[in-house]
Amino acid sequence: MSNDISPILPVSEYFGELTFGLRQMREKLPKDAFSNLMKTLEKGDKLTKETAEVISQVIKDWAVTKGATHFCHWFQPMTGLTAEKHDAFITIQHSHHSELRVIERFSGSQLIQGEPDASSFPSGGMRSTFEARGYTAWDPTSPIFIITGEKGHTLCIPSVFFGYHGHALDNKTPLLRSMTSVSKEATEFLKLLGDLDCKSVQTTLGAEQEYFLIERSYAFARPDIIMTGRTVLGAPAPRGQQLEDHYFGSIPARVKSFMEDVEIELFKLGVPVKTRHNEVAPSQYEIAPIFESANIAADHNALTMETFKRIATRHGLLCLFHEKPFKGLNGSGKHCNWSLSNDKGENLLEPGTTPHQNLRFLAVCAIVLKAVHDHAGVLRATIASPGNDHRLGGNEAPPAIISAFMGSFLEKIFDSIEQGHAAQATEASIIDLGVNHLPKISKDYTDRNRTSPFAFTGNKFEFRAVGASANVSVPVFVLNAAVAESFKAAAQYLKDLLAQKTPRDEAVMQLTRTLLKESRSIRFEGNNYSTEWREEAQRRGLPILDNSYSALKVLKNPQAVEFLINSKVLSHEEIQARYHILVERHIKTLMIEVGTLMELTRSHVLPALESQMIETAQVGTILASATANPVKSAHTHRMNEMSNVYGQIITSLSDVEKIHAEIDGLDDFEKQMQILVEKATPLVDKLRDSCDRAEILIGAHLWKLPKYREMLFTNTLS
Ligand code: ADP
Ligand code: MG
Repeated sequence: MSNDISPILPVSEYFGELTFGLRQMREKLPKDAFSNLMKTLEKGDKLTKETAEVISQVIKDWAVTKGATHFCHWFQPMTGLTAEKHDAFITIQHSHHSELRVIERFSGSQLIQGEPDASSFPSGGMRSTFEARGYTAWDPTSPIFIITGEKGHTLCIPSVFFGYHGHALDNKTPLLRSMTSVSKEATEFLKLLGDLDCKSVQTTLGAEQEYFLIERSYAFARPDIIMTGRTVLGAPAPRGQQLEDHYFGSIPARVKSFMEDVEIELFKLGVPVKTRHNEVAPSQYEIAPIFESANIAADHNALTMETFKRIATRHGLLCLFHEKPFKGLNGSGKHCNWSLSNDKGENLLEPGTTPHQNLRFLAVCAIVLKAVHDHAGVLRATIASPGNDHRLGGNEAPPAIISAFMGSFLEKIFDSIEQGHAAQATEASIIDLGVNHLPKISKDYTDRNRTSPFAFTGNKFEFRAVGASANVSVPVFVLNAAVAESFKAAAQYLKDLLAQKTPRDEAVMQLTRTLLKESRSIRFEGNNYSTEWREEAQRRGLPILDNSYSALKVLKNPQAVEFLINSKVLSHEEIQARYHILVERHIKTLMIEVGTLMELTRSHVLPALESQMIETAQVGTILASATANPVKSAHTHRMNEMSNVYGQIITSLSDVEKIHAEIDGLDDFEKQMQILVEKATPLVDKLRDSCDRAEILIGAHLWKLPKYREMLFTNTLS
């Protein structure tokens, strides 16, 4: 009897087979070369030329055996996407008889440093054109990998990207700097706390990624999706997400097949993806990995997004990472689960089994809260994007006000610490607080507050307000810098108390109490979507930054960004450059969206409405001789409705065209941004509303754009 089920390999047999990381280096490299590499990683020593040469040979041999023909330095410019420039391994070798021979070659310097012709990556004025050159350098902490193609594969070398004077031109560099900074300050603090053997502290990250998946041929028939990644118009379908049947529903067959292919590919690339499920909106899904060191997790998230796009093509689908592709339906976010662990692998945000571990846990929680409290404005700025402006505050995603949720169990403990209980920090009083029972909370943690932008979820914080298209490095490096500063101040506080001979546990308790008190206003347990919270937040003096225009301006405030400079995560120039790039990109993105809406109105909506009006008017002449009055007046009503909408569209279009031209003509980019956000957005919304009303009045034979119904529901049938 034949077996119907074709054999499927267990993941463990091929996980990471397209990667070359430390494990493979240890296996394949000569001992001294490997130890030189480790010194580079651990102490920041320079990799010797000889070692680089040895490593590059080993990598090339591996890659060529795997079928790689090209290599590239793979990096993350400030555009938030990834970039690469491919070079073939081949070099020409001249033999005696001057015949050309080609061999595969890959030198140590090609591994370590590349010089892409990157003059058109945004640098925010940091690179003047005469030195318009960016450099990439291998980041050996992240595994090298192979991206497979149809006829040949490409070896990708995760790299940082910087300018001539060493300025970071990417998002990985500040992330790496921030991880170093957290590690240094947290280690110092933990030593004071009594963890004398602590050597380093790692930032961990698990990024849950939401996305939409739609039929590719529909997307191709929607100029707005092609130009902007979202629909700039489109009437709602009769069915949206009101049945609440999509979330955790069974995954449609076509989508499941896509997910399987994506996962196989990601497993080969060493990305530990773990969870897949439907999301709230129709045709919306989520994938979540097992957490890793933040730098690798950030690379893996970028790789995941790229892989999604690539594999979707194969399945005749298009993957949308836009924060709000469809009006009236939930948009997509990216939950950044963040924590810290020491070199023994203990999670610092996990309650432990001893009073000491639990004191440490409470202190670290308080340190993080203080960091979020002090830098809520800049944290808000890190999640500012054109897409997220549609999502934040829309009763589907956290509001634009940063607050932190701890859960009722911890709130109770925090309250009693603040009130001065357990001041002695004796074992008995700690037990009294319930602190020694902490391990139970992670399991019983059911009262999650889904509306919180920054929620503690048992053993980690979840930064939920991040947009789906974002590069996770950005919110993480800012959070890290804030936390590093907070650890540093906490260490100083402890040092002072210990110098006054305060017993250590008591000193830690005192520190925790002070930090909790100082950061109290950032803690909020209620419904973040409610209008009362807005008023309450105002009373508490928390920054309320409703849109990207107000949020990004925070980056111009020298006091607000000082912590980034002090922790050496970004220099003053780098922050300024980033501000320019973010604002400029914001403007360009919005202008493309507005331009697309104007074009669609002119070339699709108005002509379709005009044709419909002619048709309907013709019906009028038929009715004139034949029918009774009620029918005639119904017809007149329909004609009037169309004429009204027609008039509104023409007026709105002209308003939008005017403001578009006005913005286009301005030199001052901040003024452009302000007018776009404050004046253009309401006009654009009005035009869209009229277009959506027209769509409902126009016959299917005249409306050429795929509708929401088609785009969103065809794949949900299995
Ligand atoms: P939840 O039910 O809260 O969503 P999961 O266990 O499903 O919890 O985890 C959600 C995400 O959080 C996953 O990507 C997971 O790997 C990540 N995560 C779990 N623990 C940590 C940690 N210590 N640091 C960073 N991320 C973590
Ligand atoms: Mg989650």
